[in-house]
Amino acid sequence: MTEYKEQVEKHRKLMEAEKWARGVQHIHVHQLTSMWYEQRPYDMKDGAVTDTIFNDGTIQRRLPNGGLVFLENERLMGDELIDAWERATHNICICGEQDCEEEYEHWTHGY
Ligand SMILES: [Zn+2]
Repeated sequence: MTEYKEQVEKHRKLMEAEKWARGVQHIHVHQLTSMWYEQRPYDMKDGAVTDTIFNDGTIQRRLPNGGLVFLENERLMGDELIDAWERATHNICICGEQDCEEEYEHWTHGY
């Protein structure tokens, strides 16, 4: 019976986390080729790009010419997504610290 309850609870969390996953975490207008997730440094040669980072890690990029691409990065799913959602609802930075003062740095240059 307890196991059943746990499954139901996990399912509930996953539903919440999946809703949260589609939200925007971060919008970053920049011309840096040093972002920790960068795979397309050539995108910046004609100007700044606008990266929209969603809560599940999906990154959508608006190119200087107006085109739209998705970066080929890992998306969070399942337990990882639940973990990220739980961390985010407690305002924990990617470095693991709560209310991190260097959050911007950590997002732009990793940690
Ligand atoms: Zn941090």
